[in-house]
Amino acid sequence: MQRFITLAFSALLLLSLNAATPETHYTVIVSLDGFRWDYPDMYKTPNLDRMAADGVKAVMLPSYPASTFPNHYTLATGLVPDHHGIINNTFWDVKNRRQYSMGDSATRNNPEYYLGEPIWITAQKQGVKTGNMYWVGSDIAIKKSHPTYYRPWNAKPFLTFEQRIDTVLTWLQKPEPERPRLIMLYFEEPDGSGHHNGPCSLPTGAVVQHMDSLVGVLRKKIEALPFGGDINLIVTSDHGMTDISPERVVNINDYVKPEWCEVIDGRTPTSIFSKPEYRDSICNALKKAAHIRVWKKEEIPAELHYGSSDRIGDIVVAPELGWQFTDVARDTKGAHGYFPQSPDMQVMFRAIGPDFKRGYISGGFVNVDIYPLLSHLLQIVPEKTDGRFERIKDILR
Ligand code: AMP
Ligand code: ZN
Ligand code: ZN
Repeated sequence: MQRFITLAFSALLLLSLNAATPETHYTVIVSLDGFRWDYPDMYKTPNLDRMAADGVKAVMLPSYPASTFPNHYTLATGLVPDHHGIINNTFWDVKNRRQYSMGDSATRNNPEYYLGEPIWITAQKQGVKTGNMYWVGSDIAIKKSHPTYYRPWNAKPFLTFEQRIDTVLTWLQKPEPERPRLIMLYFEEPDGSGHHNGPCSLPTGAVVQHMDSLVGVLRKKIEALPFGGDINLIVTSDHGMTDISPERVVNINDYVKPEWCEVIDGRTPTSIFSKPEYRDSICNALKKAAHIRVWKKEEIPAELHYGSSDRIGDIVVAPELGWQFTDVARDTKGAHGYFPQSPDMQVMFRAIGPDFKRGYISGGFVNVDIYPLLSHLLQIVPEKTDGRFERIKDILR
């Protein structure tokens, strides 16, 4: 009975919160792809520093693997990649015997791959409008639905960083009933430069500084709005970046015979779908190699939260930080995808606005906690996820 009363009360509360009360603030969350937690210590980032002084500063842990599609979709759903299905930027789809790839629009845009519920759907179901610029999943008809305002990744022209900011501002200037309460905004830098030049390099420093200046532009434009004081601004990322080198490569062909495997897919980590009779041979051969970890799927350490999805091979090979396990080494200087516990994979987090503490340094949290945070800010009832509001609520006023 007690439980029934609590449920009934929650339902009433939900009804009364529908469409967000006038006290609900707006929230803009920005992802600067591949923005390592310590870039502000390495390069000049006056705007992020000002956000830290005026708001919250934290180091956030990504989910495993520390790559773009898995983590942006984790930020959107509060689920670890093992649970939301995007277990890497590419993976083998066992059911349909084809490869999913973020670079192939046919599979990328197929909603079947995207499990869980992105925050824009949770919001919309409860009458809250959202705007979304290029966030992973936003242009895909997940649960047959889209954000209220969004732009397809493939639509021409591909918007410049400045155009994205200006578009977001037009959304915020809509008449109140049409105005989105949550806006998600994505930029593909400094990831690109981090790959090309390495995280610790002059060109990456220059791009980091440029991204910081864009944060300054966005903040200034937001604060100039008549209701600028009602807007929370979060700036964060999906993963960090570390140095790689052609000298730190474990060549898969030195250990594994192609005829032992059905499929080998992905890197950092690599999923191997073995031919059952060769499973032990593959594991034993790879265990002789230095600088990689090899697990049977069921033996992957629990702290990685990886291994229940059928899209993960029955053997998983994870290189040590800065190493590559591949047959074709990357010709770039930076990479990611490594363990969340490696500091180089961790992420910058800043937040300012009416709901956040000022000058507060958080002890840190995990990126699955962003979904419950956003749900709280929007005053909507969240889905059940891997995130925990308890772990992140100290950053709020
Ligand atoms: P990564 O290989 O993990 O470094 O992926 C970064 C790349 O992901 C970016 O440079 C973009 O090309 C791509 N990307 C990011 N967001 C999207 C999106 N919403 N749709 C398609 N591709 C995207
Ligand atoms: Zn990324
Ligand atoms: Zn990248």
